[in-house]
Amino acid sequence: MRTALVTGASSGIGAACASRLISAGWRVFAGVRRAGDAPRGAEEILLDVTDESQIRAAANGIEQLDALVNNAGIAIAMPLEFIPLDELRRQLEVNVIGQVAVTQAFLPHLRRTRGRIVFVGSIAGKSALPFLGAYAASKHALEAIADALRIELRPFGIAVSLVEPGTIRTPIWEKSAAVADSLVSGAPADLRELYGERIAAFRRVAAKRGASGASAEAVARAVDKALTQERPSTRKLIGRDAKLRAGVERLPDRIRDSVYERVLLR
Ligand code: NDP
Repeated sequence: MRTALVTGASSGIGAACASRLISAGWRVFAGVRRAGDAPRGAEEILLDVTDESQIRAAANGIEQLDALVNNAGIAIAMPLEFIPLDELRRQLEVNVIGQVAVTQAFLPHLRRTRGRIVFVGSIAGKSALPFLGAYAASKHALEAIADALRIELRPFGIAVSLVEPGTIRTPIWEKSAAVADSLVSGAPADLRELYGERIAAFRRVAAKRGASGASAEAVARAVDKALTQERPSTRKLIGRDAKLRAGVERLPDRIRDSVYERVLLR
């Protein structure tokens, strides 16, 4: 039986990936931070991707692995001028360092099975929106990591894919808004004076988009394909808005900027 580990499997895209793979007959280890959060049918592994000892224990506890789905992630929304540096570090720690740490720990397993790795990136890996600079930096970094790793691991027969979803309806939007609320309320008054109106406009658009995004199952389908197709895609945009944003990124910078200002900040 093929075996997969999905990180961040408690909700959203990770839970959808775990459930889809279980239905397709995989044995699935679900990495979660709280006991009891794993989707039905998965084997639960306590795995905070920033916790070295949990990563080590997970790697020791899983004998065989054919697929690693690096999905865990957070999104911190805050103007770069005011984002507390510890929050910037946390953003990068979870979305970048944590992904590499888990990958390092499981590469010996994957080398034995000539297994596969899928990173859940984002259109934010190509397209940095205002107030999401920290998140976009983390997803841009993930693009670089996937590109380098793909070549490094080719001699071992380990395929590396990256999926790049646009807006997907998951709890990440509410979690991110809750963190932003607490950061904004703890920030200096200048923040509201300097950025208040544009942040409010951005949040209205984000709330609307989050609620009408594509389904997590659409991402799970792409992950499934990356794990099973004979020649998996190296990267895959998911959702109409991801494709639109990829197009906007091809415009000259100042035109691109004015599109985002018009659509997001007014
Ligand atoms: P969710 O918030 O539903 O899922 C995020 C998952 O990551 C949760 O299981 C969460 O666990 C887990 N997680 C957070 N921090 C850690 C940590 N330190 N260690 C281990 N697990 C952690 O959001 P999504 O399903 O939307 O997000 C999944 C991935 O998809 C992320 O990488 C995100 O960036 C990416 N993505 C999402 C898009 C969207 O529009 N939703 C678009 C593009 C990409 P817990 O429940 O304990 O918090």
